[in-house]
Amino acid sequence: MALATTRLDIVSPDKVVYSADVRMVIVRSTGGELGILPKHAPLVTGLTPHAMRVKFEDGRDDQLIACAGGFMEVTPEKVTVLATAAEEPIDIDINRAQRAMERAKERLAKIHDNPEVRETIDKKRAELALHRAMARLIATNTSFEV
Ligand code: ATP
Repeated sequence: MALATTRLDIVSPDKVVYSADVRMVIVRSTGGELGILPKHAPLVTGLTPHAMRVKFEDGRDDQLIACAGGFMEVTPEKVTVLATAAEEPIDIDINRAQRAMERAKERLAKIHDNPEVRETIDKKRAELALHRAMARLIATNTSFEV
């Protein structure tokens, strides 16, 4: 008997990034990691930067998708991700993500050295930039040091 699937649509501000019938979606929400199976109870949650993992009914390799953050709406039939930015691995510029990671790390090192600015909005922005870059590197299986 065929396993159930759910429709997954990942949309960024300028395009539909990914659309497929999937067995499971694993995301990092603001409340922690969530695995969404078909017929899941209705849910709306924020997403933090991460590499989403998509599993398929036919057992083919998982698909990773870099998600910069956004929102996810789940209904029993459908999962919709409204991402601030999202990319399939093939569309990720690895050098750009590595440069973004280095910039974020440098900013965080400066903030760390200056106690007066430690808990500012700049720190949060730099941390988010670091996590977006990490998500892109993880989605492309690129090794890195934090
Ligand atoms: P950068 O500092 O390199 O711009 P960022 O994390 O600030 O990185 P975002 O604000 O998340 O970038 O994304 C802006 C746009 O650039 C989005 O359309 C996103 O898909 C695209 N983008 C960002 N980084 C990459 C990358 N490494 N490869 C491909 N597209 C990227």
